Amino acid sequence: MALTITNLSKTYPNGVQAIKNLTLTIPNVMFGLLGPNGAGKSSLMRTVATLQDPDSGSIDLDGLNVLTQKDEVRRILGYLPQEFGVYPKISATDLLDHLAIMKGITNKGERKEMVEALLNQTNLWDSRKKSLSTYSGGMKQRFGIAQALLANPKLIIVDEPTAGLDPAERNRFLNLLSSVGAGVTVILSTHIVEDVRELCPRMAIISNGELLLEGSPNDALEDLRGKIWSKVMGSDDELRALEAAFHVVSAHLVAGMHEVRVYSDSAPGDGFRPVDSDLEDVYFINLASSKKGQAK
Ligand code: ADP
Repeated sequence: MALTITNLSKTYPNGVQAIKNLTLTIPNVMFGLLGPNGAGKSSLMRTVATLQDPDSGSIDLDGLNVLTQKDEVRRILGYLPQEFGVYPKISATDLLDHLAIMKGITNKGERKEMVEALLNQTNLWDSRKKSLSTYSGGMKQRFGIAQALLANPKLIIVDEPTAGLDPAERNRFLNLLSSVGAGVTVILSTHIVEDVRELCPRMAIISNGELLLEGSPNDALEDLRGKIWSKVMGSDDELRALEAAFHVVSAHLVAGMHEVRVYSDSAPGDGFRPVDSDLEDVYFINLASSKKGQAK
C-alpha cells in the first residue's frame, strides 16, 4: 500500500505548529521516519492512524481517503503508539483475544488460531498466561507488535518502539519487525538513527514539522562520499577552533579524547583522515542545515 501525504498542516490549540505543509509519499516497504524529539513524528503518525485531524491537507492510502474513510482505514491498520497506555492485569492471550473481537474477528476458531500464531511469532508463548502488568519493557513492546499485527493489516505504524529497550531486547524487536511479511507498508517512526540504518530501504528526515530529506539511506550516504573527515583531538580549545572554521558534524568522546567528524569537500587540515559516511552524518548534517535556514 502506498501512502500519499499532501500539504498536511496541524497547529495545536496551544499554538504549536507540529506539522507544516508536509508532503511525503511512503511506498510499500519498511519506511523510516527519522527526527529528533518534538519533530512532529507522533503528530503525523496519529493523523495517519485516524486518531486526530489535521487543519489542512490530505492523506491517501491506495485510493482511500484517510481523513474521511476512517473505518475502512482502521480495518487495514495496525498501530503501536508511543505510549501504549496502561498494562492491565489480564493475560496476553485474553487481551489479544479481546482486541481481535474489536477488530471484527468474530469466529472463535479463527481468533484462537490467529492469537496463538501471534504469541508464537512474538516469542511470548511461554508467558501468554501471565498478567501483562508483569511483563518487561521488551515483552511489552513485543506484545504491542502482536496486537498491531492482528487481522493482517496492510499498513503498520510503530512509533518510537525501541526507546527504552536494552540492546538485546532492541535487537529482538527489530528482527521481529523485519519479519513482517512482504506487501505490507511499515512506518517506523524513531529518533534512533541505527533503527533506520538496520531496517529501512527508504526514509524521511523531519524536523520542526517539516520534511528535510526523503530517499534511500544508500543514496544519502553516497552524496556524502569523500566529504566526511575524522580526527582525534585532545583539547577542548582545538575542538572549539575547529568548530569555528568548519562544519563539525559530531564529536564523540572516546577514552577521554574527542573523535571529531567534519563535513568538508576537501581535507580540513593536518591529521584528518577520510572516513566512510554513516547515516548519523546524514541526519546531523540535515538537521544543522535546517537550523541554519530557520536562523536566516
Ligand atoms: P515527536 O513525535 O517527533 O517527538 P510530536 O508530534 O510529539 O513530535 O510533537 C511535535 C510538537 O507538537 C512538539 O512541540 C510537542 O510539544 C507538540 N505537541 C504534541 N502533541 C501536542 C498536543 N496534544 N497539544 C499541544 N502540543 C502538542
